[in-house]
Amino acid sequence: KLYNQMQDLKGNIRVYCRVRPLKGQANNHGIVGNVEEESISLIMPSKNGKEVKKIFTFNKVFGPSATQVEVFSDIQPLIRSVLDGFNVCIFAYGQTGSGKTHTMSGPDNITEETVGVNYRALSDLFNLSEQRKDRIHYDISVQMLEIYNEQVRDLLMIDASNKRLEIRNSSHNGINVPDANLVPVSSTADVLNLMNLGQRNRAVSATAMNNQSSRSHSCLTVHVQGRELTSGNSLRGCIHLVDLAGSERVDKSEVIGDRLKEAQHINKSLSALGDVIASLAQKQPHVPYRNSKLTQLLQDSLGGQAKTLMFVHISPEPEALGETISTLKFAERVS
Ligand code: ADP
Ligand code: MG
Repeated sequence: KLYNQMQDLKGNIRVYCRVRPLKGQANNHGIVGNVEEESISLIMPSKNGKEVKKIFTFNKVFGPSATQVEVFSDIQPLIRSVLDGFNVCIFAYGQTGSGKTHTMSGPDNITEETVGVNYRALSDLFNLSEQRKDRIHYDISVQMLEIYNEQVRDLLMIDASNKRLEIRNSSHNGINVPDANLVPVSSTADVLNLMNLGQRNRAVSATAMNNQSSRSHSCLTVHVQGRELTSGNSLRGCIHLVDLAGSERVDKSEVIGDRLKEAQHINKSLSALGDVIASLAQKQPHVPYRNSKLTQLLQDSLGGQAKTLMFVHISPEPEALGETISTLKFAERVS
């Protein structure tokens, strides 16, 4: 309740920054200067050889030593609001290697300590629905989709059919992908199995596209249906947990053919997402959802009563300065 009131005051769009540690140097921030609760400074070289500091502000900053537990506990109320019928989107944005997958899924060898937002979110929703079971019965199910080159694929398919899926908009179900598997889940064991299946399917498609998964968006959607036992009233909510394609600009002079098409699709869909969030943040009357598959898919969960959280990831390496600046500019645009 309190959190929802706070959300109303702050608006439904929040932008968080997470700074990854320098490889192997937990306490070194590289090009990132001060890390405060709601701002970071960037140390930039200037013409006269002196360093210039530029400050960027956010709703919240997680520095290099922030743990997965700290990150999750901050966003837990947002995730829990799904069980009250809200739609929520959480995005991980940033250049490849900046920590998007670390935030959403965790590192390669996950432990209870290091597992990311996706698993923690589902585990927490199971716990809370269990606590409410005398009052409300919840059905929870998940979908896992991948968007690559403006094509939607099911990451929970059993056979590697590689089928391209259509996004539909029905008056009854809203936006949906009718041919994608929607799998009921009731335990963290179910979730781990599905995540492994999704990971395997993503690896298969990454090989097929002759590239890493960093070129596609992956979206874990948790659908919740609740029924109040006494009144019979029902509610629906969903949360989309999105690990976006790497935001790095590709030098067009260096890529040709398929790689160029791929780079253009990524730029297009990330800027389409930026356009949608920016127009929502500025309360513009027209929101351009139709410009990419990603924003079409998430249309029901961006704007209106829906809540959006953008995690902007920063790599502190000096070589990353150019990309870091463009990431911070994206963040400024959507907040
Ligand atoms: P991306 O998904 O943006 O390409 P990754 O999540 O794969 O980036 O991160 C790149 C590497 O940095 C991985 O080895 C990851 O485990 C590590 N890493 C990223 N963020 C953190 C963090 N906050 N703390 C510790 N290691 C991190
Ligand atoms: Mg990744």
